[in-house]
Amino acid sequence: MSLRLKTKLSIGLIFLFIVILLFGVLGLFFINRLSNEGRQVLQNNHESLVYCNRMMTALEDMKTDKNALAEFKDNLTKQQANITEVGEKEATEELTRDFNEWQMDPSDPGNYSDIRRSINKIQYLNEMAIFRKNAAAQKTAGNAKDILGILFTILTLVAFTFIFNLPGIISDPIRSLSEGIQEIARKNYKKRIYLKQEDEFGDLANAFNTMAGKLDEYESSNLAQIKFEKSRIETIINQMRDGIIGLDDKNNILFLNAVAEKLLGLKDADITGKYAPDVALTNDLMRTLLQDNPEKKELKIYADNKESYFGKDVLNVTTNEAVIGRVIVLRNITPFHELNEAKTNFIATVSHELKTPISSIKMSARLLTDLRVGALNSEQQELIRGITDDADRLLKITGELLNMSQVETGNIQLKLQPAHPGTIVEQALQAVLFQAQQRRVRIESSVAANLPFIQADMEKTSWVLINFLTNAIKYSPEDSMVEVSALQDRDNVEFVVRDHGRGIDEKYLPRIFDRYYKVPGTHDRNGTGLGLSISKEFIEAMGGHIWVNSRLGEGSQFGFTFRAI
Ligand code: ADP
Repeated sequence: MSLRLKTKLSIGLIFLFIVILLFGVLGLFFINRLSNEGRQVLQNNHESLVYCNRMMTALEDMKTDKNALAEFKDNLTKQQANITEVGEKEATEELTRDFNEWQMDPSDPGNYSDIRRSINKIQYLNEMAIFRKNAAAQKTAGNAKDILGILFTILTLVAFTFIFNLPGIISDPIRSLSEGIQEIARKNYKKRIYLKQEDEFGDLANAFNTMAGKLDEYESSNLAQIKFEKSRIETIINQMRDGIIGLDDKNNILFLNAVAEKLLGLKDADITGKYAPDVALTNDLMRTLLQDNPEKKELKIYADNKESYFGKDVLNVTTNEAVIGRVIVLRNITPFHELNEAKTNFIATVSHELKTPISSIKMSARLLTDLRVGALNSEQQELIRGITDDADRLLKITGELLNMSQVETGNIQLKLQPAHPGTIVEQALQAVLFQAQQRRVRIESSVAANLPFIQADMEKTSWVLINFLTNAIKYSPEDSMVEVSALQDRDNVEFVVRDHGRGIDEKYLPRIFDRYYKVPGTHDRNGTGLGLSISKEFIEAMGGHIWVNSRLGEGSQFGFTFRAI
């Protein structure tokens, strides 16, 4: 039977209490007994001896001292009252008798010696009693020593067992439990504690085992869940048409899906775990992928005996805002690329084909205004002006579309030559003069003196400036002013067109140079949204830099910068 810890401790304490009590009671008992015996000796025998001694002395002094008789009588009376031993009574009676006889005849020396003998007898009896009682006290003391000694030995042995066992009863299970807890902290959920005792520690061990069991269950179900999720995600990744490459935070390759394997021409098993820049040493595509090149929107990849186009996206994998890896996604955009190419070709062909008939419409309209063909009334002149305006607009649009297709196919043909900024400004001004007059917008030009030459395609640079000016005029109120300037800024030459029109909201500025982008709320149905994007492509193709500054309600500034030569 196993006892509860509380019971064990209670038993231990009760035992100690009993031990203390027992020792106390026994000690008191023996001390009491010994002191009783001592007192008895003192009272019964020692006093008798004292009386006898005094009687003896009185007897000696009887002849010389008259008080001696009274002294003798007094002590005899006391002795008669202190009879404690067997035979003492008879001896005392005999002494009394002898004393009486002596009183009757003090001169008889026989009486005198009788008294002495009787006193000696009483003394002898009491001395014997003292010896006997002393022996008895010795025996009591010996018994007390023996009993207390045996008790002490037994209790010491019991106490020793307590000392050896009690700490173990508490510390052993605590040690097992703390070892168990440490194992759990090390995620060893298989750990169990086996305690034989059925006390509170036994309960604790059972509770611990239940907890470890539950944790184990949770861990293995979690692991199974994670494994399942992993294989599900792997399946999804492998099924995707996009190439996917996973890298850790140190640029080691974690995984590749089937498409990425095909594109890189490498096997997942061969390169997982390898440092990506090492793989890039022998793999061109990997090298391109690792480059941080946001400008390069399309990657042409030859794999599987065909050319495909991919867009690269790099996604950062984060936990708690720390980047722990990257996933490179290669989106297959070949179908879009093909469609876009078809669209660009179509636009190029159509706009090219339209140019000739529109030009001949313009020509015919101009011929109609010639008086040699016949005089026109004012209504007819108005109609012809309308035809010419529309033909001009059509020509502008087809020109823009053609430029656009050139840009998209990467076929910008540049005739780069040293050009004077003044000439470019002049050319552009000539082209927009009529339009400005019509809208009653004044154009003020300022070209800094002694401007250096720039390396540029005259025609395309003017085209951009014309585009800026046309927009500035278009979005300026009547009777306002547009300023065009060319100035030197350190090693650069800067062209700026500034208007005082309605300006552009800041939030639209980042997209202003995008293809087909028109600021929302622009009511210009003739615009294509291509002018600024073509301008950007032209300027950048020539090595320049294009920019815009604008605030809603305060007008805009469009400009570009070239390096002086
Ligand atoms: P569009 O041929 O339609 O004018 P652009 O590419 O030249 O196309 O211009 C794109 C858009 O930028 C326009 O729709 C217009 O809203 C805005 N924009 C261009 N220049 C100005 C300007 N000077 N002031 C205000 N808005 C302008």
